[in-house]
Amino acid sequence: MELRLDPDLETFRTEVRAFIDSILPADMKERQRRKVANNAAVPDLLEWMRILHAHGRSVPHWPQEHGGCGWTPMQLFIFNEELYKADAPEFDWGGTHMLGPVLYTYGSDYLKDRFLPMIRQGATMWAQGFSEPGSGSDLASLRTSAERVGDTYIVNGQKIWTSGAAHADWGFFLVRTDRNVKPQRGISFLIVKMDTPGITVRQIPQINGEAHLCEVFLDNVEVPADQLIGEPGMGWTYAKFLLEHERTTSSFIYWSKRELARAKDIALGERVGGRRVADDPAFRARFARAEADLLALEWSVLRVLAHEEFDAPEAAAASVLKIRGSELQQEVTMLQVDAMGAKSLRFFDAAPVPPPAPTDAWPDYAPGRTTVALINRAATIYGGSKQIQKNILAKLAFGI
Ligand SMILES: Cc1cc2nc3c(=O)[nH]c(=O)nc-3n(C[C@H](O)[C@H](O)[C@H](O)COP(=O)(O)OP(=O)(O)OC[C@H]3O[C@@H](n4cnc5c(N)ncnc54)[C@H](O)[C@@H]3O)c2cc1C
Repeated sequence: MELRLDPDLETFRTEVRAFIDSILPADMKERQRRKVANNAAVPDLLEWMRILHAHGRSVPHWPQEHGGCGWTPMQLFIFNEELYKADAPEFDWGGTHMLGPVLYTYGSDYLKDRFLPMIRQGATMWAQGFSEPGSGSDLASLRTSAERVGDTYIVNGQKIWTSGAAHADWGFFLVRTDRNVKPQRGISFLIVKMDTPGITVRQIPQINGEAHLCEVFLDNVEVPADQLIGEPGMGWTYAKFLLEHERTTSSFIYWSKRELARAKDIALGERVGGRRVADDPAFRARFARAEADLLALEWSVLRVLAHEEFDAPEAAAASVLKIRGSELQQEVTMLQVDAMGAKSLRFFDAAPVPPPAPTDAWPDYAPGRTTVALINRAATIYGGSKQIQKNILAKLAFGI
């Protein structure tokens, strides 16, 4: 089965593709494709945000009054799909897709004026400080405290798994401002500058060679009280809004489409015992299964985007897309790695850009694949683990 778009959307796709092609620097694209641990990742991301901003497209999904493009959900879907297909750097998700919508929905005019332009222009990197040791799935039990003293909050505690904290200029943190109410009601949402005295960031070395994840220690950190978003005690509501707002993003559909195509290239290029991996019946069956799953996922995403009626509330749809999307991410990268066999053991992190000429032992499609496969083991954990998503689903969709 093939999904076909209306002709006007196909025209939009052609325009978007040409647009991206005209502005995406070749070296940036190459680094992104190879997806290796490199020092250019953060500068590339911010520079890409600035390039998109110069063309008014750095936050296309925001309301137009805040710099959005006024596109339909389908146009946004196509734009994202083409960005991924082109191997463009990611958005600064923390700023553009998590904090931004919370800010323009619940933030004061002061916070909107101060921070929305920074995010839109790619001037800052953002970290999400929610999880703590012992408070990941059970986020409502978080203990990092923020005590109001005059015009300041004094913050004490520890966060963990804070992605990108070592490179972030700012963070948005969930903090406990009231211990005398039920746990969810005592949480607030605070914007914190990462170089404030009292903050220590420690990077956590990862098995894939990166050190993107961090521990963040907060020791008597003074934060201006006007950096609290919305009402004190409403942080839980805003966090839920944040996690559900981008309900189709967690499907990683664009990413999986690109990477499944890459898995196919690899299987066509690799040989075992004189036969192409793509001709191996067991591999073909696995690939066909992944392709069918991908199509089903895309169909579900499009249904959500088209606001078709679901039997369950939207949060249940978000959980379904997260579960299926993260499982598929893992399967797609394992297809790539399995198709390459021993070659996938080779990392490429020290290689120069442009890379050395491809050889049979070191084909052009190999760089970065293992790095990605290893970090993808976490896809069923971050953003709410698979087991927790199933619990949510059971409750919302089936009332269990
Ligand atoms: C790559 C990566 C990036 C991340 N980035 C960020 C970030 O930027 N900011 C941030 O705040 N956090 C981040 N996290 C943290 C992430 O949100 C948590 O890891 C996640 O919520 C799980 O929490 P935990 O690690 O404490 O595991 P736990 O909550 O301790 O869970 C351990 C296991 O028990 C299961 N489990 C727990 N409770 C239940 C239950 N009630 N029913 C059934 N099973 C259960 C879980 O599914 C899991 O398998 C990141 C994590 C990873 C791996």
